[in-house]
Amino acid sequence: MGRYLGPQCRYCRTEKKQLFLKGDRCKGPTCAITKKRGAPGKGQRYRIRKVSDYGLQLREKQKLKRMYGMLEKQFLIFFHKANRMKGVTGENLIRLLERRLDNIVFRMRFASSRKQARQFVSHGHILVNGKKVNIASYLVREGDKVEIKEYSKKLLIIKESLKEYSRSGVVPWLDVDPDNMYGVVKLIPARNDVIDLADIKEQLIVELYSK
Ligand code: SF4
Repeated sequence: MGRYLGPQCRYCRTEKKQLFLKGDRCKGPTCAITKKRGAPGKGQRYRIRKVSDYGLQLREKQKLKRMYGMLEKQFLIFFHKANRMKGVTGENLIRLLERRLDNIVFRMRFASSRKQARQFVSHGHILVNGKKVNIASYLVREGDKVEIKEYSKKLLIIKESLKEYSRSGVVPWLDVDPDNMYGVVKLIPARNDVIDLADIKEQLIVELYSK
């Protein structure tokens, strides 16, 4: 699958918002948004201009897609899947995104960002219910046990990431044993439980794709 290899902060600068694409490293003083760097492009500063409805919908979609490090085609597959589910499509979409294995590995603090989590998954460091899963978009279920492969438990980079667990813990729908490097998905979060996406207006994304 193709992926964006350019500077992460560029996306935040475009959206004029912290998307936390570098995960734990975004808390440092080098954040482009904290430093009030303008939108990317020569001479582009933040301009006040009227944005069309389409523009608002597009920006919302780009924000969410980039937060989860996805490309358009895969994001659209997730949207269609959410649309086929019972309930509110926008909320289904966010719940599906939260179930991605790379997101769970990041949320369990085994990786310092979703990007790094995706790398861990594709490099075969992650087991789900005792079996190796190397597909980042794999959807975990309630009760699944996600763990670091025995051989990979000695990796310094994972131990470093887990330090964030002692500083901030994990979201309430996950249970993590940092010493033994595994976690259990207690339940799939409701839309309102995904607090860090509180200001995402997923309805705009539904409107965009429903045209
Ligand atoms: Fe975005 Fe700031 Fe993180 Fe860069 S450091 S990815 S600008 S939140």
